[in-house]
This record gives sequence, C-alpha cells and structure tokens, in this order.
Amino acid sequence: MIDFSPTPQQDDLRARVERFVRNRIVPLEADPRQGPHGPQDDFRRELNALARTEALLAPHVGREWGGLGLDHVSCAIVFEAAGYSPIGPIAMNCSAPDEGNMHMLELIATAEQKERFLRPLAAGETRSCFAMTEPAPGAGADPNLLLTEARRDGDHYVVNGRKWLITGARGAAFAIIMARAEEGATMLLSDMSAPGIVIERILDTIDQGFAGGHAVLRFDDVRIPVENVLGAPGEGFKYAQVRLAPARLTHCMRWLGAATRAHDIARDYAASRQAFGKVLGEHEAVGFMLADNEIDLHQSRLAIWHCAWLLDQGRSAGSASSMAKVVCSEALFRVADRCVQILGGMGVTQDTVVERIFRELRAFRIYDGPSEVHRWALARRALRAGPKPD
Ligand SMILES: Cc1cc2nc3c(=O)[nH]c(=O)nc-3n(C[C@H](O)[C@H](O)[C@H](O)COP(=O)(O)OP(=O)(O)OC[C@H]3O[C@@H](n4cnc5c(N)ncnc54)[C@H](O)[C@@H]3O)c2cc1C
Repeated sequence: MIDFSPTPQQDDLRARVERFVRNRIVPLEADPRQGPHGPQDDFRRELNALARTEALLAPHVGREWGGLGLDHVSCAIVFEAAGYSPIGPIAMNCSAPDEGNMHMLELIATAEQKERFLRPLAAGETRSCFAMTEPAPGAGADPNLLLTEARRDGDHYVVNGRKWLITGARGAAFAIIMARAEEGATMLLSDMSAPGIVIERILDTIDQGFAGGHAVLRFDDVRIPVENVLGAPGEGFKYAQVRLAPARLTHCMRWLGAATRAHDIARDYAASRQAFGKVLGEHEAVGFMLADNEIDLHQSRLAIWHCAWLLDQGRSAGSASSMAKVVCSEALFRVADRCVQILGGMGVTQDTVVERIFRELRAFRIYDGPSEVHRWALARRALRAGPKPD
C-alpha cells in the first residue's frame, strides 16, 4: 500500500535541510565566485564544509561512505528541500552528475573501485563526470549510435572518440566513459589526468548551475587498465539504466524545490503589489496562474513520490520514471514561466532568483532523455501491451 505520510525521521530531516538551505545557503547565492560555467571549486568546497558540519553531505550514499543511506522517498523529501536554492544541491554534494555517479558506483563498482573513486567523491574531495553523449553522428538521444571505441590491448583498453555536453568534466578527478568494446557498450573509469584526455572547450549554455559547466572531450589513445572497467564489459547500456532511472528522478526532485522557490517569490509579489485598485493576486488572471502553479507542483510531487516508492519496492520503475521526467520537466518549466510573468519586468532581471531558475530549468527537457524520447518509449510500451480486456 502506498502511504504518503512522512515518518517522524523524514519530517525531522526535511526541517533540518530546510533550515540549513534557508539560513546558511540562500544568503550565499550572490557570491561572486560563480560564473557562466558554475561555481568555482573553492566556493564549492566552502559550501560542502557547511553541509558537512550539519551532517548533510551526500545524504543519498550509504553511511559507510559518509552519507545517510536514504531510500528513494526520503531522497525525494531531502532533494526537494535542497533544490530550494540553486546552490543547495552543490552544497550538499547531491547535484548532477556526481550524485548519479555515486549511486552507480555504490551499486556496481568493485570494493577497490569504491575506495578509490567513490569514497573521495562522497566526501566532496573530488568531482566526477559521466561521458556518454557524442556530437552527431554519434550517440545522443539514441545511445546505439555510440562511436567511441575501446579496443582491447593486453591488460588495457585503448579508448578513442569524442564526447560533448559532458557536465563537470573540467575540474573532475575522474570520468565514467561509455565506449564500444568488442563485447558491446562498456563503461570505463579513468582519471581525467590520464594521457590522451583532452578538454577541447567549455560550451556556453543557457544554464550556469553545474560545477565545471559542460565540456567537449576528446580521447586520443587513452589507455585504461582492465580493472577499471565498471561492472562487466558489454553491459554498459544496462548499467546506464541503473544510473538513469533514479538520476532523472533526482533531477525532478531538485527542480521541484527550485520551482517551489520561484512560486513562493511570485506569490509574495502577487500578494503585495497593487494594480488597478487591488493586489495582483486578486486579479483572476494572476490568481489562476498561482493556482495552476500549485496544481503543477502538486502533480510533480505525486509523480516523483510514486516513482520513488516503486524504486524502494525494488521495482525497475522505467515507465514511472519516464512519466515523472516528462511531467516534472514540462510542469516545472511552466511554473517558472508563470512566475516570470507574475513578477512583470522584475521577472527577467537578476534581482530575484526566478530568472535563473527559469533559464536553468529549460535544459531539463533535454538531458536524461528529451520529452519526445520518453513519450516515444511510453507509446511503444503501450502499443506492445495491446488493448486491455473489458
Ligand atoms: C545541460 C545539459 C547537460 C548534459 N550533461 C550530460 C552529461 O553529463 N553526460 C552526457 O553523456 N550527456 C549529457 N547531456 C547530453 C544529453 O543527454 C543529450 O543532449 C540528450 O540525450 C539528447 O541527445 P542529443 O543532444 O544528441 O539530441 P538528438 O539525439 O540530436 O535529438 C534531438 C531532438 O530530437 C528529438 N528526438 C530524438 N529522438 C526522438 C524520438 N525517438 N522521437 C521523437 N523525437 C525524438 C528530440 O526532440 C530531441 O531533443 C547533457 C545535455 C544538456 C543539455
């Protein structure tokens, strides 16, 4: 039975994270050590130190790695509260791509790989990246177009290829690289300092929230020892699903927090700003925008919680996570757009964080599967299932 009432522990944790984000993190949002390609590393480390003192660092990983070992529903509560500030997830070390990478390493990596890669990542001592997408004609929405090659040479794989849109590559200690080996798609762990890994450039993008920005990477004869294969060779696409279903859901959780913040700001403005003899919110057109925000936020939360609950039951939740991704990425963007509108001219200025949330949310309809690809996958499943008996 699905029970949406939080436990006392979940309520307590939510309150702690809310206090931490509102009192310690929100006041730092305007820190100048942030640029078009995310927060600088010294700023990230300072934020991590604040979360560490509150025992809120990497809450999703197991206690043995310094986290809180939360289940998916608890993550939904905590990540939403963290996302209330665009720098909250960075502070708590539960931002993309590190959070998804930690999850995958915890599930798949060998004991040695966990010590070497997961432990410092969970502690906030390092960052990581996940290198799958390639420029056309390589892997994009369709991963089967994978071109990057991993050729076996004795006790090494030799990797050649190009990737792009790789979040956090600059400044990352290591990459998880998806490449085509003789056995099939394979994930390999490599230090970013390995000879042959070249960061060609950092892309200028609509968003600015991810540490390191998004990079174009080249692999020129990168030699990776066989013991750095993540899981079994040839199983890369299967593991990508291990990463992607929860990872796209955690994006939903964080962006739900951000959209809620935008809504709070727009609601306060609508409750106080006068136009034509009454406050804005009492004009029906504005009131309905607030109501539609409430509906979109509520539906997003329900979709997230249901999917998180399925994952906690040990179910793969592929369809539910696709649905949640479509619902949240589209509904939360609508929320941010309405908030900009309610704020009038101020909505497009950087005098509030709403402008940033609006910009940053746009890319979410594309990464971790564009809406069209999720709809396409859901449609295929629906067609395969056929008509339901009366
Ligand atoms: C901000 C950002 C960060 C990212 N970070 C990473 C990262 O860290 N690591 C990584 O590996 N990748 C990353 N990506 C890449 C992201 O996963 C890809 O952009 C995404 O998978 C789409 O691939 P593509 O850009 O090649 O689009 P394409 O494959 O060229 O598709 C373009 C468009 O075609 C449409 N389309 C595609 N397939 C279908 C279909 N079956 N039915 C209907 N329409 C379809 C969709 O509208 C889609 O948006 C990031 C992207 C962004 C924007």
